[in-house]
Amino acid sequence: MSDKVPPPIKNIQVKFKQLFINNEFVDAQSGKKFEVINPANGEVVCQVAEGEEADVNIAVNAAVAAFDRKSPWRKMDASDRGQLLYKLADLIEKHRVELATLESLDNGKPYHIAYMADLHLCIKCLRYYAGWADKIQGKVVPVDGNFLTYVRHEPVGVCAQIIPWNFPLLMACWKLGPALATGCTVVMKLAEQTPFTALFVANLIKEAGFPKGVVNMLTGFGPECGAPLAKHPKCDKVAFTGSTEVGKLIQGYAAENMKRVTLECGGKSPVIVLKDCDIDQAVDICHVGLFFNHGQCCTAGSRIFVEAPIYEQFVKKAKAKAMGIKLGNPMEKGTDQGPQVDNEQFEKILDLIESGKKEGAKLETGGKRFGDKGYFIEPTVFSNVKDDMRISKEEIFGPVMSIFKFEDLDEVIDRANETMYGLAAGVMTNDHKRAIQISNDLRAGTVWVNCYNVFDIRAPFGGFKMSGVGRELGEYALQNYTEVKTVYNAL
Ligand code: ADP
Repeated sequence: MSDKVPPPIKNIQVKFKQLFINNEFVDAQSGKKFEVINPANGEVVCQVAEGEEADVNIAVNAAVAAFDRKSPWRKMDASDRGQLLYKLADLIEKHRVELATLESLDNGKPYHIAYMADLHLCIKCLRYYAGWADKIQGKVVPVDGNFLTYVRHEPVGVCAQIIPWNFPLLMACWKLGPALATGCTVVMKLAEQTPFTALFVANLIKEAGFPKGVVNMLTGFGPECGAPLAKHPKCDKVAFTGSTEVGKLIQGYAAENMKRVTLECGGKSPVIVLKDCDIDQAVDICHVGLFFNHGQCCTAGSRIFVEAPIYEQFVKKAKAKAMGIKLGNPMEKGTDQGPQVDNEQFEKILDLIESGKKEGAKLETGGKRFGDKGYFIEPTVFSNVKDDMRISKEEIFGPVMSIFKFEDLDEVIDRANETMYGLAAGVMTNDHKRAIQISNDLRAGTVWVNCYNVFDIRAPFGGFKMSGVGRELGEYALQNYTEVKTVYNAL
């Protein structure tokens, strides 16, 4: 993969470090700033503006003005809105190396992954929604009596969008795409760990020609900046991606003025590996399903249930595969795994690993810090994991694989579903009839059969149960950014 990728920019400088409001970069009202750390060495990269409630108010007012019925944005033809999104995608493509370098610096993911996966998907996402802008349509409904009755799909209004740090720019694009295609305006709160790429794109949003106030971006912390945004009475909708814990808070904040809410939260996704599968393929899929992005995926297949006859063999192969992961400088060619995003995550993961050891899971490989600087954790595999252990229940969000044994298929489906989460699941088998039945029985928003972590911008994504509310991606996301209006016109 890395052969096709141009090299990253050496000693890249961060150009955009302020809040983006009304198409201008500005300091926080308080003048406060906070430090952004390079997770590969723990050193400060630079300081960025620390937005708080006063800044939220200014940004929301800008988005409200941009949504005024007489504003340039509201008067713009839908096809022109689409053209702006296409232009933004082109500009991101033009700056792909710079953006992938910044993403790697900020988040710690390997540069070549940022380039090939994150940036590739960002560009595709914006082009996909650009195409939707002039295809959002209602219908005419034949009703009793003499009326012309039609249904319009109108933009929901001012959208608060709060995003996480694991795929910083991609999560921004997933939210910007449908919001802008439908004609909404946006105030986005970036994750405090990873503000660089979205701020860079804020500048491209201006360059593309979006009217002022249509997209505003704030950097700052959750309680001080995210909460006043999610609570803001002038926001019509809040979309959030992050932990289930904060997702519950957001739903509470939104209740105050009945904001429309979409949440994409945590997961503890099961993968069921049947004895008839192609075992080498299953090991490879489960490996990527867990270790991709250093385990920092809400979909991570973190509970792998393997049928008894192939269990020992699976564990052996999964361990060998994990031991082959190359850790190191995320900017270097050939690195598979960089650091975890910050010290908080690093400590949390190590604590969960310790709990796994104490509670009697068998540590097959890994289990400790790698190196002596930065937030690197060895790829870790536990076997003999039991359902009541902390590592079985809590979202680890790190490079920690847990392997369980099962004898009875019917029972394992119940075990797989025995979680408050329902984001994703996997099934590995060559028996497609059984795969369909198991997929139907698993309570999750996405089920991958003989594959994992496949994402296509056209297919909806989101969670059952406490993994979320609503769907992102595809046509389904548009529903979450539109209001439905019925007009009865007496004839
Ligand atoms: P993680 O635990 O993975 O960092 P969080 O759910 O804490 O995930 O964070 C996801 C996003 O939510 C970040 O942008 C963060 O700043 C924001 N956030 C955290 N706490 C709150 C809060 N109380 N209100 C609004 N946003 C918050």
